[in-house]
Amino acid sequence: MKPAPFRMNVVSEEKNDPENDRARHAENFPLPARTPKRDNPGISPSKWRVGLHTSIAGSLDQAAERAQRLGCTAFQIFSTSPRMWKQREPSADEIASLRSFRQKYDLNPLVIHANYLLNLASSDPELRRRSVEAFRGEVLRAAALGAEYLVLHPGSYRGASAGQGVRTLAASIREAVQEAPLDGVTLLVENTCGQGNILGGNFAELRDILGLLEGISVRCCVDTAHCFAAGMDVASEEGLESMLESLDATVGLGRVPVIHTNDSRSPLGSHRDRHEHIGKGGIGREGFRRIVNHPALRDKVFILETPLEAEGDDRRNMKTIRTLREEKLRIAVPRLLKKNSRITQPVRMTGRVCVSELQTSAAKAALKSQHLRHD
Ligand SMILES: [Zn+2]
Ligand SMILES: [Zn+2]
Repeated sequence: MKPAPFRMNVVSEEKNDPENDRARHAENFPLPARTPKRDNPGISPSKWRVGLHTSIAGSLDQAAERAQRLGCTAFQIFSTSPRMWKQREPSADEIASLRSFRQKYDLNPLVIHANYLLNLASSDPELRRRSVEAFRGEVLRAAALGAEYLVLHPGSYRGASAGQGVRTLAASIREAVQEAPLDGVTLLVENTCGQGNILGGNFAELRDILGLLEGISVRCCVDTAHCFAAGMDVASEEGLESMLESLDATVGLGRVPVIHTNDSRSPLGSHRDRHEHIGKGGIGREGFRRIVNHPALRDKVFILETPLEAEGDDRRNMKTIRTLREEKLRIAVPRLLKKNSRITQPVRMTGRVCVSELQTSAAKAALKSQHLRHD
């Protein structure tokens, strides 16, 4: 995955001694660590929650300002450098300023993407230990920042089996959150392109991971570019329906609050993770039009991790995705609902669709999540 390039200047006045990590966290997070209270409880359903992965160059609170200037209503950041083991801890001022800025501009939710170096599924004990330690830091920072979600990649099981990888990952997550309370943060395990020994290339693996984490607040994040590269043709109407059916039958659509909304620079089924500007890759404009307007996805949080290669790329991608979003549900009834259901034609174009005798759980879940009513 390649969101906006990371450009933070890491402040390194502190010696990074892993032994002192816990103590340093305690020092640096003066906000009550065990208060699960969110500054912005509840997300207004009337507003479309869409945003960008935003650079934290300078400070974390500046990322929120950037997001707001770019027209985001939600956003994603790294809470430290995503490609270094050394972690930078945000200052109390930075945290307070981020929280008040989010509250003022109703920037919800805040999604944090974990460090790329982590491999919580690793069969190498040393790499796993470092990963658990670093992930603990991710959880503590996410909680201190008041983030709603913390996205992590499931990791690679090289040297073991996929099943073993799933168990190792679940054990690592349990270990990390034992000493780092989630305090209102929900973990999101992200699907991947399924390259080599990387977990998460199919939804059944994600379901299995969640299955081993009962009692922990954990759900999934689905990346459209990863779906496409993993071989799910979400560019076509049929492919999107089939992806949603498969997702609902495994993880369950209700357990996917966030969609990473990226076009794919790599071909269908290539198992290569290369993000593209919205509309310019394999999924294309029409593909995204269907994705952002699909009744089963309409109230999800859409986060773009599109490339930032030229000045204004972020603004252009935000503009494109907003252009594709229909104000109200105009499309009659999508095939996901049609297929196994007897559905009447919509009679009013008020953003609600009238549906009768829904028979599939997917359809029910989709409707429930969309607050569509049986009239
Ligand atoms: Zn990711
Ligand atoms: Zn990716």
